Amino acid sequence: LTPPKDRAEAGALRLDRLTKTFTSRSASVTAVDDVSLDVRPGEFITLLGPSGCGKTTTLRIVAGFETATSGGIQLDGAPIDRTPPQRRAMAMVFQSYALFPHLTVGENIAYGLKLRRRPHDDVRTAMQIALTSMNLVGLENRSPHELSGGQQQRVALARALIMQPKVLLFDEPLSNLDAKLRGAMRAEIRRIQRRLGITSLYVTHDQDEAMSMSDRIVVMNKGRVEQVAAPARIYFRPATIFVADFIGRANFIEVAPEDVGDGSAVVHALGNRLTVPAHPAVRAGGAGAYLMIRPETISLEPAAEGGIGTVLRSTFHGHSVDYEVETISGTLQVTEAGPDPARMIEAGTNVAVTLNPDRSYVLNGG
Ligand code: ATP
Repeated sequence: LTPPKDRAEAGALRLDRLTKTFTSRSASVTAVDDVSLDVRPGEFITLLGPSGCGKTTTLRIVAGFETATSGGIQLDGAPIDRTPPQRRAMAMVFQSYALFPHLTVGENIAYGLKLRRRPHDDVRTAMQIALTSMNLVGLENRSPHELSGGQQQRVALARALIMQPKVLLFDEPLSNLDAKLRGAMRAEIRRIQRRLGITSLYVTHDQDEAMSMSDRIVVMNKGRVEQVAAPARIYFRPATIFVADFIGRANFIEVAPEDVGDGSAVVHALGNRLTVPAHPAVRAGGAGAYLMIRPETISLEPAAEGGIGTVLRSTFHGHSVDYEVETISGTLQVTEAGPDPARMIEAGTNVAVTLNPDRSYVLNGG
């Protein structure tokens, strides 16, 4: 398994205004609605969103298992809309692994190359490399059912990689694994993907998975793209309330129109006066803008007088404490990481609230 020789010409994927409408006698559903995306060679991009938002349908159109109603796909500048799936230089890894149960591990991995009638020696060499790099040496004569879930997923990945695709497509590949193994496999997939420099499109509804693996995340909602950006940007600079809410937890406080400027807002909130960056779509003096505050960017201090809120509840998680604080702007979610047991704040305590302007953001609601 070697990295592609010419990186510039290896796996630039373009989705151009893809739309897919499923029509039956009783209804019509637009599963993918005008989705455009440029994936750079070697980039790892995740399609993230709630169930039914169109992630899988988008991936299946790219793979060629589904035909777009309109729009097109290009690979390294050439349209591939009419290219059958097996000729697209792509390989897909599924949630269900989709291994052939009656074939051994080795036969499963070699299957695609044998189908293409590659010389026996070449197949054997490629398989040895695949077995070694996926940590499967010694398991080649086993049946898939004699493997653990993690091993089966590695076989599925080896089977995809041996074809030396330009693009790897992943459809929720880790959802059948337990939490610990899932974490290990995330790192392993990413390590191999980086080493080989294969362009990857990865579907998940797990925001933590998307955050920890991706170069960029595409957040989808109802068939449409809400935002495309690097994980930290998605988290701290969400384009929409939907993105802010879907990725982690967030507090929202409405901002008075007179406080909103172009590119930033001078916000008066919870006893703080802060200059907070704003999304480009937020217009000076515009109504319906909200201040977004992540719970772990807030700090609380017990206040004998002049407190701005009252702690309603505290929940201890070991690594953190969650507080619910009643304020005039509604209930505020606050998370304190690495809590000091001696300084935990009890319910009923009056508190002052400090916000962090750099890690807060102003965006349009609705
Ligand atoms: P999940 O995480 O649940 O798999 P998803 O984001 O991958 O969801 P899709 O599977 O792409 O979503 O489905 C998007 C929408 O299209 C849903 O409303 C779904 O019911 C509909 N849909 C998907 N495939 C078909 C089909 N073959 N015929 C009719 N409707 C479909």
